[in-house]
Amino acid sequence: MSVENRDPWTGEVRRHAKQSAAEVERVLAAADKAFPGWARLGVARRGDGLRKVAAALRARKDGIATVMTAEMGKLRREALTEIEKSAAACEYYADHAARYLEDTAVRTEAKRSFVSYEPIGPVLAVMPWNFPVWQVFRFLAPCLMAGNVALLKHATNVPRCADVIKAVLDEAGIPAGVFGVLHIDNEQAAAVIGDPRVKAVSLTGSERAGRSVAATAGQHLKKCVLELGGSDPFVVLEDADLDKAVPAAVQSRFGNAGQTCIAAKRFIVVAAIAEEFVRRFTEASAKLAVGDPNDDATGLAPMARADLRDELHKQVEASLAAGAKAALGCAPGAGDTHYPASILDHVRPGMPAYDQELFGPVASILRAKDEAEAVAMANDTAFGLGASVWTQDRDRGEAVARKIVAGACFVNAIVRSDVRLPFGGTKASGFGRELAEHGIHEFTNIKTVYVD
Ligand code: NDP
Repeated sequence: MSVENRDPWTGEVRRHAKQSAAEVERVLAAADKAFPGWARLGVARRGDGLRKVAAALRARKDGIATVMTAEMGKLRREALTEIEKSAAACEYYADHAARYLEDTAVRTEAKRSFVSYEPIGPVLAVMPWNFPVWQVFRFLAPCLMAGNVALLKHATNVPRCADVIKAVLDEAGIPAGVFGVLHIDNEQAAAVIGDPRVKAVSLTGSERAGRSVAATAGQHLKKCVLELGGSDPFVVLEDADLDKAVPAAVQSRFGNAGQTCIAAKRFIVVAAIAEEFVRRFTEASAKLAVGDPNDDATGLAPMARADLRDELHKQVEASLAAGAKAALGCAPGAGDTHYPASILDHVRPGMPAYDQELFGPVASILRAKDEAEAVAMANDTAFGLGASVWTQDRDRGEAVARKIVAGACFVNAIVRSDVRLPFGGTKASGFGRELAEHGIHEFTNIKTVYVD
């Protein structure tokens, strides 16, 4: 069986084969065989391997960026940044994993008692297309450093990204079986989750995919970490510095054509500053135009697939029909993946733009009378991934950050993932964490040792 994928900018069609049951079996068997040796190798030697992966990523960055842009339409400059971030993550975990994985001594009445962090075996990663390299490495670098081996089931529209990542690990000399790629459909993925050799699963993607994978993992009593969607609030208080907040709003909402889980999606502006913020945000956003993602002058990428563009526009139409106002754009562009930078103003509860995730270049403006109403609106969502708050009073910003229910809250900065900080969500945005100490421990056996 094979699937057809279209370059979102040129329309060029490529076919990619799915794997047969026998091929899947070979990948699983190789992972199972590789695990004990990789676990025994020790953190320092695994780190040497990850540093070589970083070097190979950098050496191949032009070719990798070309594949990313052709498969999901990402701006080339954004692709290059993503590859560098991935390489830096490999180096960070090569340097710091030993500290994260050190035994933690705990004083009890025993002679010695401590907690150790032991690898568990092959872990399946089900990954999305929106950051087709970074999302993989955000999972992979800590997972491999912890002594696990990894299996990647990438999104159907980015198979060559999966293959180039595999080529990078091979070139870096990572032993056979430590990283395997599965080109499989969702039914085959369910069988892989159930396979006794696979110990856990990590998924980044939609709520729908999360519910399905978590249900399968639950049936088989396997641990899972879920990084799902978000509808992050970007709260602008009356004392915000708009010279900083407006460019940040544009970058957060329209980078990656708006297809980012932690993008600011609901701009909650208090009355005193609302008109000025909307005017300046609209003026700045209007400068972005959809264009060739390979051209450095292009401001806005095409969306990854035509069906995603059509789904986004349905949400916009339903919000307009329910009384939202189009401040900018809000009509599809010429190509079937093109959507202009758009702003919906006066968004209220009951509209898709208020209640759902808009996974594309559409900003929703929610007007609040004051800080208390802004916080209530920020929390009036099924999601809980990230949030950002803008105020020149840092203490006030921190107090508001503490009131927002989310996996991360940034004050006077946009939400971003950082290898040094845990990343993940609450409510319908998922559970478990990636990155930092919390993330690297997710796929370990946290083992108590008590010696009397
Ligand atoms: P999906 O969530 O469907 O895809 C993400 C990954 O999950 C892909 O590898 C996909 O595989 C896999 N997947 C989906 N369903 C299952 C399943 N039942 N069992 C196993 N694996 C599964 O994303 P879409 O491409 O359909 O995007 C739709 C929406 O998802 C977006 O509009 C956005 O709201 C959200 N999304 C959020 C992301 C985030 O970063 N939080 C990332 C991507 C999407 P396959 O491609 O083969 O179906």
